[in-house]
Amino acid sequence: MSRVAVVTGGTRGIGAAISTALKAAGYKVAANYCGNDDAAQAFQKETGIPVYKFDVGDLAQCEESLAKIAQDLGPVEIVVNNAGITRDATMHRMATEQWDDVLRTNLTSCFNMCRSVIEGMRERGFGRIVNVGSINGQAGQFGQVNYSAAKAGIHGFTKAMAQEGAAKNITVNSICPGYIDTEMVRAVPEAVLEKIIAKIPVGRLGKPEEIARAVVFLVADDAGFITGSTLSINGGQHMY
Ligand code: NDP
Repeated sequence: MSRVAVVTGGTRGIGAAISTALKAAGYKVAANYCGNDDAAQAFQKETGIPVYKFDVGDLAQCEESLAKIAQDLGPVEIVVNNAGITRDATMHRMATEQWDDVLRTNLTSCFNMCRSVIEGMRERGFGRIVNVGSINGQAGQFGQVNYSAAKAGIHGFTKAMAQEGAAKNITVNSICPGYIDTEMVRAVPEAVLEKIIAKIPVGRLGKPEEIARAVVFLVADDAGFITGSTLSINGGQHMY
């Protein structure tokens, strides 16, 4: 049986690596994105993975798109909540809009996606949910009160949902990447990045594939005893 997996923000960066790894592991994958049509079309062409454009911050769009994916590929049994944004500013300069955008895309999205699939998962007695947190949700980060709060929220979300899903064979786990070589990190000024790399014991940025590997592990049928856990993948930068 080939289970259906949806990866949010699945056409670029870490999400693209997750989509590709899940396909290689035999899953039917749907990759979501929101704005970058060119990247999504190129990704679909290169990988053969179908792409679905919707805003994970909007519950109605999530419900509608997940119903469409189920119609196209089959019932959705795996959800990887990976989509995320940053809108950095120190607290005394942060606008309400920066706070709201980051909370909506990084945390409310997890509610929207999970709310859209949870009833089906409960009925079928199977589900795998992986939420992508961040080292900055574990340790906090200067200039990222909004992002750190949203990512920290993912831990509580994951653990509470894991308790609710356990009896129905629905596992819910989070992965906390450290600094991974994607466009999000390339946007960090070079001087700042050099200081960050100096603090990573492994001595380099992580690769998107190194996160994808953990997702494939957590969504497997025989990973049913792993739930409510937080897996840090950060080159030893923060041992939590
Ligand atoms: P990228 O910026 O490279 O990619 C982000 C993806 O999310 C894109 O596919 C983008 O779509 C999608 N996206 C953004 N907003 C929405 C939205 N409202 N609805 C649907 N999709 C959306 O990010 P990364 O690959 O670097 O990060 C992936 C995840 O990992 C994020 O949650 C991030 O916070 C987390 N993370 C990343 C780290 C890193 O070092 N890179 C470290 C720790 C955590 P589109 O292509 O259309 O713009």
